[in-house]
Amino acid sequence: MNTSRPWHHALRGALTSILAVTVFSAQATSFPPPLNQQQTKQLRVIKNTALQVDLSYQVIESLTTEVGARLVGTPAEKQSVTWAVNKMKTLGFDKVWVEESEARLWQRGDLQAAITKPYQHNIVALALGNSVGTGGKALTGEVVEFADLAALNAAPAGSLENKIAFVSYRMTRHKDGHGYGSAVGARVTGAAQAAKKGAVAFIMRSVGTDTNRFAHTGVSRYEDGVKKIPAVAISNPDADLLQNALKHKQPVTFSLTMSASGPTGQTTTIANVIGEVTGSSKPQDIVTLGAHLDSWDVGTGAIDDGIGVGITLAAGHYLSQLNPRPARTLRVILFAAEEIGLYGAKDYVARRQGDLQNHVIGAEWDFGNGKIYQLEPGVSKDSLPAIAAFARFLSPMGISMAQTNNAKGQSDMSALGEAGQPAVNFNPDGTDYFDYHHTENDTLDKVDRDALKFNTAVYSMFALFATSTGADFRQ
Ligand SMILES: [Zn+2]
Repeated sequence: MNTSRPWHHALRGALTSILAVTVFSAQATSFPPPLNQQQTKQLRVIKNTALQVDLSYQVIESLTTEVGARLVGTPAEKQSVTWAVNKMKTLGFDKVWVEESEARLWQRGDLQAAITKPYQHNIVALALGNSVGTGGKALTGEVVEFADLAALNAAPAGSLENKIAFVSYRMTRHKDGHGYGSAVGARVTGAAQAAKKGAVAFIMRSVGTDTNRFAHTGVSRYEDGVKKIPAVAISNPDADLLQNALKHKQPVTFSLTMSASGPTGQTTTIANVIGEVTGSSKPQDIVTLGAHLDSWDVGTGAIDDGIGVGITLAAGHYLSQLNPRPARTLRVILFAAEEIGLYGAKDYVARRQGDLQNHVIGAEWDFGNGKIYQLEPGVSKDSLPAIAAFARFLSPMGISMAQTNNAKGQSDMSALGEAGQPAVNFNPDGTDYFDYHHTENDTLDKVDRDALKFNTAVYSMFALFATSTGADFRQ
């Protein structure tokens, strides 16, 4: 692009030069009205702009280098709220506000892990979110392996007294990322299950598809009335080593020293940051785009979910530049504390007492780097033809429409979907997403700038379509 002319001025010029005012006559047909000619031109301009400029990347770079990692309860996480408010205002959002609530505070602390028998060898490991520590002392026990969570669940009560339970299940790699669903249960509930059998600690193969020597963190949960034991994930190569050592029919012991503190009952204030581009004729009708502002602490949260922040803020900016503006309001919600349990999304729904009647439709981006290949709706039957009409704009980009109509929205947005908001999921190629997910390797250099432009174009087009069309996805 021409660097002598800032791109947003170029966009504004292109948009205001659209003079077509032809109104599509939809009354004669039973189909919901697609976009009129002017809106269709706006859609093309937005698409071309998003494919050419780097705005979403600039946002991610700003977030990950000016603020850094954004673990709930850290100074950087508080700073990210101020950053997001300022960024939304700079990008042309009309109304920007925060909604504060409380989340449980967890602190990672330090960790050392090692095999101590049959020989001494350091192990690369990360505490799982919410894990308690070992009180600063080394905790040592014999390792007992389980092939998966079901095998651990089936172990007799009392069979793991003074032992360390190890789930060795390996996540499988798939384009749609469904291997995550089969693997993540152990991360969430493994520690509680192991404690019920008498184990003193829970270790697991990381939920990740890479073969690097780093571990994948992620949230875990204890059960009320069940002893809280330390819970850690070890890297894939370290899990291989442990499995191989166990095959030699000799005791393998493991030592863990960690100062993580949780759960203490202590809470910390979190904040959803919300920005709107006000609709021109139906401002009370809200289309939502979501991403989460918090991240894990070990990388800089560039992929998870800096990309979502970049895409949704860019889409809001592009809409703010339109003249005329779309009829409906676009609301971008940067959710708080997603990683440690969707706290921000739950607060968003609770504040509205589950009544999201004015929420016409929503979509979240929380799935990394891959190019979108499929649109999956979750809308009223009557509005499906309108979604299909929109999908035809995406089909030259290689994006098809799913035959199902059950989408609730990714991540945070699923809480709104469960509360009744119609949704669209944009499904990307997630083949390598779980190589980086929740690791030290989630850094800015991993962001695929071409795929980012492509996905930003798709979300910006969706935002334009959903705020402009006469179709109502609720009915
Ligand atoms: Zn995420």
